[in-house]
Amino acid sequence: MLTGRRMRASLGVRPADGRRMDYGEGDAITKHDWTQWLDERAAAGLTRRLRVAGSPQGARMRIDGREYLAFCSNDYLGLANDPRLAMAMREGIDRYGVGAGSAHLINGHFESHQRLEDELASWLDVDAARLFSTGYMANLGVVGALMGRGDTVIADRLNHASLIDAVQLSGARLSRYRHNDLADLEARLERARGERMILTDGVFSMDGDIVPLAELVELAERFDAWLVVDEAHAFGVLGDQGRGSFEAAGLVPGERVLRVGTLGKAFGTAGAFVAGAAEPLAVLLQRARTYLFTTAQPPAVAEASRAALAIVRDEGFRRDRLADLVSAFRAGVAGIEGLEPMPSSTPIQPLTVGEADRALVMAERLDAAGLLVPAIRPPTVPVGGSRLRVTLSAAHDRDDLEELLSALRECTSIP
Ligand SMILES: *Cc1c(COP(=O)(O)O)cnc(C)c1O
Repeated sequence: MLTGRRMRASLGVRPADGRRMDYGEGDAITKHDWTQWLDERAAAGLTRRLRVAGSPQGARMRIDGREYLAFCSNDYLGLANDPRLAMAMREGIDRYGVGAGSAHLINGHFESHQRLEDELASWLDVDAARLFSTGYMANLGVVGALMGRGDTVIADRLNHASLIDAVQLSGARLSRYRHNDLADLEARLERARGERMILTDGVFSMDGDIVPLAELVELAERFDAWLVVDEAHAFGVLGDQGRGSFEAAGLVPGERVLRVGTLGKAFGTAGAFVAGAAEPLAVLLQRARTYLFTTAQPPAVAEASRAALAIVRDEGFRRDRLADLVSAFRAGVAGIEGLEPMPSSTPIQPLTVGEADRALVMAERLDAAGLLVPAIRPPTVPVGGSRLRVTLSAAHDRDDLEELLSALRECTSIP
């Protein structure tokens, strides 16, 4: 059991005003500390709250008993409630039942999992793909299997939380470079000891911008480093065939590139995979603890993901529609004073509004108008960089977009 300092470090326990709490060396967390911590968060308006969905994922959803037009999901291609996926899952249940029953390496690796892995590998034109139960676990698995004490992972500062945790858990040294800053990355690669790994998101989840991949590939090759790209927001979305940031950049990944994809976003299902060359994938199978010591995802979910992959591959019109929505949104927002769109060409379209209070008030007004757009505030983003984070989906139509734009106009016009 973790106590005292280590537990606080692992949970990121800080009072809401940023002071470090004085627990004394080695003290266990007491009930009193947590009461105070929760109170401080509440007083600062930072308490996170669950909303309960009562309808399928989609542009229009019933949440907490109210109808909403939602601009916050990662269901980029509108597949989470696609009848073909639902049918594939039902057939999977008829054939294989509900639970996988054990880890992949015991007897939980079903034909569905194997077929999905093979189909993903051939879609991406790599030797192999390995399924994980979530993207979070895939990231922990890939970093932990390949890197350890004495090695250095050089990671973008704006990487997803799971990538940060992955490095910390691996025991490797974490060296964070300024967002997309190639000079900083290069300097850190030069100083790095042991095995080197460059770790980055393909599309950054809070800003929506895309990694400068050609330059990263060049640096990785020059320094003989692994390059691991988290394609959670890129697979299904970027590239003509939806094959992510490499396809979009016209690059073919080499032997030391590993890509992590999640199936819970554009694929509309659940789970994740790592794709790459045979040898590192063989190492993952032997060593990735989040692969070895967890129950395989239900085979029926893999059947739904196979149906999703066929749609991701074959229905390019969904990406075209998404691209149209993105440009129409950016054109519409350009005319609204007080909203600063960020330089993003992806479905993640954050609007910088400045102070945290303002972002919160705007999100509340949108909510009152029946629109779900989350406000993102510090510490997730820098002070003064609070934003409304709009995400678009092929499930939206032009009328939905017009409704969003007119609500944004309304909520900015009130002082
Ligand atoms: C969502 C996300 C993950 C985690 O994937 P899950 O399958 O939801 O666990 C990892 N990396 C990035 C960049 C993500 O956006």
